Amino acid sequence: MKRYELRCIACGHVSPFSLRRIFCERCGDLLEVRVEASEVFNREKLLGRVNSMWRYVELLPDFRRPVTMGEGMTRLVRCERLADALGVRELYVKLEGMNPTGSFKDRGISVGVTVALEAGARRVICASTGNTSASLAAYAARAGIECVVLIPKGRIASGKLFQARLFGATICEVSGSFDDALRIVLGRAEEMGAYVLNSVNPWRLEGQKTTAFEIWEQLDGSLGINVVVPVGNAGNISAIWKGFEELRDYGLTDEVPRMIGVQSSGAAPLARMFAKGADSPEWVESPQTVASAIRIGRPINWKRAVRTVRSSGGSIYSVDDHEILEAMRLMATTEGIAAEPAGAAPIALLKSGVESGHLPRDETYVCIATGHHLKDPDPAHVSWNVPVPFEQYLERVTGRS
Ligand SMILES: *Cc1c(COP(=O)(O)O)cnc(C)c1O
Ligand SMILES: [Zn+2]
Repeated sequence: MKRYELRCIACGHVSPFSLRRIFCERCGDLLEVRVEASEVFNREKLLGRVNSMWRYVELLPDFRRPVTMGEGMTRLVRCERLADALGVRELYVKLEGMNPTGSFKDRGISVGVTVALEAGARRVICASTGNTSASLAAYAARAGIECVVLIPKGRIASGKLFQARLFGATICEVSGSFDDALRIVLGRAEEMGAYVLNSVNPWRLEGQKTTAFEIWEQLDGSLGINVVVPVGNAGNISAIWKGFEELRDYGLTDEVPRMIGVQSSGAAPLARMFAKGADSPEWVESPQTVASAIRIGRPINWKRAVRTVRSSGGSIYSVDDHEILEAMRLMATTEGIAAEPAGAAPIALLKSGVESGHLPRDETYVCIATGHHLKDPDPAHVSWNVPVPFEQYLERVTGRS
């Protein structure tokens, strides 16, 4: 048995329960799902359960049979060579690119589309920097409902746009940034009768919190670690922290990780806020970065993210685009593991953070590689390592010409 409550993240007011509600009835801020379960999983109970995030069913909204494709339970890969190269004691990378459509978004969208069906929705909508649209298009297809996505014109990585087209979404281009597209979605969804599945939707975060449960299970409960997460709209870092808090609240762990966020310096309102010690962020009007998944100037979940890093003892930092691309390549060439640029940002932060002394070397880090590297095979990223004629290579290794 579980009981749900929708509580405001700002004023704490509990709004009347509705699966369609996104904003606080009193102050208009965002809502958080509070789940009260009479029974919860433990390590023994989990043995033999389904190999997806739905194994944590006690803390997930299973109002009906879930719309699922086996999302979650992504590999947590220990990286010794990369740890040596970065100079940290221990490093794991969580490969979220292994999800069905190649990013962690599938966790939230699996729950979100399940809830949308329960709420009677036949049309779902989102604004997207790319991965949300790819994921929502796929899960809507599986559920047999209509999907509308709004994307910033000309700013979507080719692999992601291809996915949204392939899965049959209605794709609308918006001039401006992701932030403009999200504003339109929030303003127009109701009159379109569409269910909003951006990370303002509290149920999406319920799916994404399972990343924390998996790390707990995969590390045998040792959570004296740092979890490093790329931050765009700031839903994911907050969702993962919610998962760790629930593990603590249900007595499944005593220690919880420090949460560290990373933004790209061309889209870093939260990193800048922390660097300045300010109380609220200054928005970035035209965010720029090669990491299109985190090209966001007004992170809508900023309050949740601030609470996350403050209560976990972490912070949010920024890295430059060239550091992101270098990290992408370093990870790939030392470990054979890759991610799209946003997913490599945590590695870039580890490198600059231990060099500058912001991050201690003698600790364990879990980096969330949020999206698959083939999402964004832009030739501009891969001007490195150009193919050569075989004869030229042979001359080099044999010394003959
Ligand atoms: C969506 C996304 C992010 C950012 O997540 P937020 O919840 O918006 O902070 C980071 N990386 C990838 C690959 C993404 O798709
Ligand atoms: Zn409120």
